[in-house]
Amino acid sequence: MGRLVGWLSTALLVGVLVVFAAIAVPRWHRARVTTASTGDSYPEPIPNGPPPALAARRDARAEVRPAVSLSGTPPTEEELRASVRGSNIVIVVMDAARSDHLGCYGYPRDTTPNIDRIARQAVVFEDHFCQYPCTSPSTVSLFTGQYPDTHGVKPPSGHAALLAAHPVDERAVTMEGLLRANGYWTCLFSGNPAASPAVGVGTDFQLAFPAYGKHPQKQWTQAAHHRSDSVKMLLDAIGDALAAAGGEHRFFFYIHFLPPHSPYRAPEEFQSLFRGKTPPNHREGKAAFTLVSTRERTAQPPKSTDEWVNLYDANLRWADWGVGEVERMLKERGLWEQTLVIVTADHGEAMREHGYEWHHTCPYDEAIHIPLLIKFPGGRGPVGRISALTETVDIMPTIADLYGLKYPSDGPLGTVPQGKSLVPLLTGAATRVRDYVFSRTGGHWACSVVRNHEWSLLLYTGGKLRALYDLGSDPGQTYNALADHPKVAETMAAAFESHAKAQRVPPLEFLDPNYRPPAETQGQGESLSGETKSKLRALGYLD
Ligand SMILES: [Zn+2]
Repeated sequence: MGRLVGWLSTALLVGVLVVFAAIAVPRWHRARVTTASTGDSYPEPIPNGPPPALAARRDARAEVRPAVSLSGTPPTEEELRASVRGSNIVIVVMDAARSDHLGCYGYPRDTTPNIDRIARQAVVFEDHFCQYPCTSPSTVSLFTGQYPDTHGVKPPSGHAALLAAHPVDERAVTMEGLLRANGYWTCLFSGNPAASPAVGVGTDFQLAFPAYGKHPQKQWTQAAHHRSDSVKMLLDAIGDALAAAGGEHRFFFYIHFLPPHSPYRAPEEFQSLFRGKTPPNHREGKAAFTLVSTRERTAQPPKSTDEWVNLYDANLRWADWGVGEVERMLKERGLWEQTLVIVTADHGEAMREHGYEWHHTCPYDEAIHIPLLIKFPGGRGPVGRISALTETVDIMPTIADLYGLKYPSDGPLGTVPQGKSLVPLLTGAATRVRDYVFSRTGGHWACSVVRNHEWSLLLYTGGKLRALYDLGSDPGQTYNALADHPKVAETMAAAFESHAKAQRVPPLEFLDPNYRPPAETQGQGESLSGETKSKLRALGYLD
């Protein structure tokens, strides 16, 4: 009997083990394979749909814009430099302003009446692109004229790390440092802490408002993100600075308005202009590949895309009001015609055109095609439109060239600007300064963009995922034409390789088929020091 019970117990135990193994092992195995293969599984292409109609393609190709179209006789180089001599410099950045939502870039809504008026006396750059659709790296490219893979500021593991102490070479020539050394009073007014000395951006300015670095928590609360008077707050500080300058000191003001960036706290007078209406020209769509992350952890967009676009447009109108106020204050002091004014953005904003929400990870035009206007002082400079390809990195070398500011141009990578002076375009001496523009995103499935007027090539890390868009027939970038035009993609990838190899840290992972992206992280600042973490926590960027 005892032996029988023992035998039955053993049989039962073996049976349980067999059943357990049959159920659990495959699950364990599957789980293990999934985990282990995070870096090996590639996204699938999203079904492409029919290609754009050939008729549309022919029509689009027939419409060729002149590269440089200036009214009257363009100035000579000497005349151009004489037109800015002794003038002040004001750069206004509207955070996350995409060019196609400005009236002077063809948007049918009245989002930017002040900027449109200024544009009629300025040079409008129609095909201008940012280097990175993210505030810190883009602003550093503006100040240094360097590409992100050279200046080193990027968000390598999500949102938090972008606020880490930045490794910009301390010998780097910066716009504010150069102007300061040449007698300018340099002031930064920023509604976004990600474009402030608190995170190592714009550290050479003599005055920074608000003083983010000293009491991060207090200043963050006081700053733009949660106030409907954030634009006015900067304007008040600018007014004080103008009074302090007293019309005697030449100044360089960098003004960074947080809107149209979220949150959407535009005063009611701007929100009521667009609320409940149907946005023009807006179409939702998908990215070229599955799995590529299109949603950002920090984005909390409105559920309805129409509502989102309306709120965004109201915020843009708010930023435009700020630009108009800057103009009014300069005019009141008789400084408007003694000031070079540049209006631009650090990046655009994706509102589900390709599934992407917000901007950091989106490689499409909605996130990288930005406005650029240059208004010369005293009505003496050029006026018109330029469609040659230009980039954020060009602004610093252009200012240096216009004002005759010298710096050692043969310094090592990371210390000198890499952009091109736009002076040859402004005098009509050239119709192009480059063949391609380059932008990039970061994080898991980072993407590099190579773009000219006709094509946009997206290269994801690992070199296997590529998408090519024929912008002539498909400006909305909806049809991946890679299989139809392999030679075009090859030529553009070769151009990217040359560009990549000219960077301080060449981003060759976009071409390397053996590269495996790291497992996706949630950007909790894994590589940050304890001190930086506590600073970020105080700023509200870390849980
Ligand atoms: Zn930004």
